[in-house]
Amino acid sequence: MTQICSCCKIEKDISEFGFRLNRGYYKKQCRECLNEKEKLRYLKNPEKEREYDRNYFHTKKYQKWRKQHRLKPDIKAKERLQVIKYRSKPDSKAKRTEYLNKPEVRERNRYLQRKRLKRILRIG
Ligand SMILES: [Zn+2]
Repeated sequence: MTQICSCCKIEKDISEFGFRLNRGYYKKQCRECLNEKEKLRYLKNPEKEREYDRNYFHTKKYQKWRKQHRLKPDIKAKERLQVIKYRSKPDSKAKRTEYLNKPEVRERNRYLQRKRLKRILRIG
């Protein structure tokens, strides 16, 4: 199956178009065009976009989506694979140590550990 992109007018395989799950149809523009648009938008106003990205990752909507998303077995496996891939890089250990030694990260980890411990104690 193919579709003609409304932007570059090139006929491409349907896999080149993103699928809109909630609407049930394929996007009218191909991935390449959408990526290009995204890039342009970013270049036009990098500060604002970066700010938006940062904010987005802290919204309840995103957190909720991520929680549900991560429950899917294939996503879980994919994420694990990414971690393994990342950890197998030669410089990742040094980077990780450096990251974990940052005061704010240490503080956060201590907090999370306490929280986890509390939960275990409650269950057990
Ligand atoms: Zn296109």
